[in-house]
Amino acid sequence: MSVKKLTQLYEGKAKKVYETDDPELLIVDYKDDATAFNGEKKGTITGKGVINNRMTNYFMRELEKIGVPTHLVEELSERETVVKRVKIVPLEVIVRNITAGSFAKRYGVEEGIPFDAPAHEFSYKDDALGDPMINDSYAVALKLATAEEIALIKKYAFAINAKLRELLLGFGVTLVDFKVEFGKLADGTIILADEISPDTCRFWDSKTGEKLDKDRFRRDLGNVEGAYEEMARRIFG
Ligand code: UDP
Repeated sequence: MSVKKLTQLYEGKAKKVYETDDPELLIVDYKDDATAFNGEKKGTITGKGVINNRMTNYFMRELEKIGVPTHLVEELSERETVVKRVKIVPLEVIVRNITAGSFAKRYGVEEGIPFDAPAHEFSYKDDALGDPMINDSYAVALKLATAEEIALIKKYAFAINAKLRELLLGFGVTLVDFKVEFGKLADGTIILADEISPDTCRFWDSKTGEKLDKDRFRRDLGNVEGAYEEMARRIFG
């Protein structure tokens, strides 16, 4: 496949996005830059971009197999992937299996308590507003998506959770929670977009509970690069 990288369309916190000579395709370029707390904390995680590119594409290929459509087209290089151009649905879709992070803080519970069943949460993707939590009917009221689209997004999100849990279990990793984003193709089809990586998931070693994700950066736990490398080693050998 030969797509030409043209002008940069956008630079996000962790990725750059380029237009290509095909109007329906973009190239994402994963950076080593890391941010937390809505951009307040900044840093570099050396090698992260390479790991997140490869890991995202691995998970997306597995999700395609169970009928979750994704934006993945082709991995171009260590850091670059060709993806389908979408209009991002401005919702962060979070699924949780175990208490952690903002859930534990907001509801005053300890981290590490398993849920009886996976639970979901939506945030309205708006940096200026600080990505406020939103419910299904408010999302419809704000015309962020239709009720049908939201139902489909939830169905996909729980299917993604089940598949990722199963895959990760095989690598000795417990999936605590994660965030995904969806996009809309020109014909209205909803597909999985963005990334699935230690930046966007909480991964705990199944035996020791050791954190193998971006919480090591957020909380200054040390060995941040080592955690990303350990995840890559477990999945890719
Ligand atoms: N998450 C993310 N981007 C965000 C907020 C959350 O990728 O802007 C991920 C985060 O890595 C975790 C899950 O979503 O796996 C749930 O995060 P939480 O709501 O607990 O927020 P946090 O504690 O990360 O602020």
